[in-house]
Amino acid sequence: MGSRHRMGHVPDLRLGVHPDLLAKIDRVLAAMTIVGHPMRIVQGVRTAEAQHALWLQGRELPGRRVTNADGYQRKSNHQVKADGFGWAVDCCFTTGEPFGETQPWDLYGLLGKTVGLVWGGDWKKPDWDHLEMKNWKSYSEN
Ligand SMILES: [Zn+2]
Repeated sequence: MGSRHRMGHVPDLRLGVHPDLLAKIDRVLAAMTIVGHPMRIVQGVRTAEAQHALWLQGRELPGRRVTNADGYQRKSNHQVKADGFGWAVDCCFTTGEPFGETQPWDLYGLLGKTVGLVWGGDWKKPDWDHLEMKNWKSYSEN
């Protein structure tokens, strides 16, 4: 991995995300655009360091708790798996409030499930913007 970080350089959020997941996400995003609620990817692969920083939020750092995965003992599906790919993507809306509560998250989740993904909005602690692939272990053995 090269470190060609420049000021203002926009990172490629698709980098390292499983190609099958990207193909599914593209179908979801295309459908959301057609129904008038365009979205974009805001988070693809997350490093262990970045995951840990997120975990510290609401614990040793101010803010609300957003994750139970500390990045090391417990990994997020945004982190690279044994197959070398990230298995989760977060999206937000590009019109109105990016993460607004009144945005049609249920529609996004429904479309995600329609293409065979797991939607974070169905979890006990809902993660509306999150979509991930199912059963990565069995999937990668196939
Ligand atoms: Zn996520």
